[in-house]
Amino acid sequence: MEPLHLVSRKYQSEDTIVRVGDVEIGGRAKVYIAGPCSVENEEQIMQIAQAIKGLAHVLRGGAYKPRTSPYSFQGLGEQGLRFLKNAGRATGLPVVTEIMSEEEVDMVASSVDMLQIGARNMQNYALLRKVGAQKKPVLLKRGAAATIEELLLSAEYILAAGNHQVVLCERGIRTFSHTYTRNTLDISAVPILKHLTHLPVIVDPSHGSGDWNLIEPLSKAALVAGADGVMIEVHTNPEEALSDGPQSLKPEKYRALVHKLNRLARFVEEEKLQ
Ligand code: PEP
Ligand code: MN
Repeated sequence: MEPLHLVSRKYQSEDTIVRVGDVEIGGRAKVYIAGPCSVENEEQIMQIAQAIKGLAHVLRGGAYKPRTSPYSFQGLGEQGLRFLKNAGRATGLPVVTEIMSEEEVDMVASSVDMLQIGARNMQNYALLRKVGAQKKPVLLKRGAAATIEELLLSAEYILAAGNHQVVLCERGIRTFSHTYTRNTLDISAVPILKHLTHLPVIVDPSHGSGDWNLIEPLSKAALVAGADGVMIEVHTNPEEALSDGPQSLKPEKYRALVHKLNRLARFVEEEKLQ
């Protein structure tokens, strides 16, 4: 048996459309996911949700944070989930949040529209099976040292467990080059994935670079390379953010970026560049 089965274009030639609330990922329209790295308090997530409303299609925010250091802010847990859910309701935006353990899956799935599996858990097979056995769509991020085939095989676990609503996310990989960037965004993964699989592919330039100055050029590159959307960290006060401030865009910068990306997406479509 070939390693890639259910995720493969050979199994299904037409693109999978993943439905997150009323939003379709993988169709003609590019999808924008935005929000803070972490849900920090009720006002913070509500303000950011209001600021991105009308620009982004899905609100993100971490309640359970996989931090490199055990002494860094770990997220607000269930309280953060409630704040995220309220902000989503108030703005009409569907919400996505990361889960880190199998025990959290059912509880978190009952209050959000999409479950994120982060880079650090891409090969947590028990977690992959568990999200595969429930119905909410899954955003699966590429591990920092994972090959493209390993990412696809992790997605294969979720599909094999019964859930075909999976979006893949390129978020940068670890290379020798980390003086000016946190990770190296692997743009080549986008056309390769789009060729190999029918699953939607999005790009996260925030973790892919670690630097808000690089979000615009990398987002443009992602769309031109064929990504179905971009996930970008946005914060009203990046200097005070409890996580990932240096890579977060302020709302006004995000607004300007979305307008440029919309124009770029139209150009790509009209000129049939893809
Ligand atoms: C995140 O999206 O907040 C996150 C922790 O990303 P990653 O898993 O890609 O590091
Ligand atoms: Mn982050």
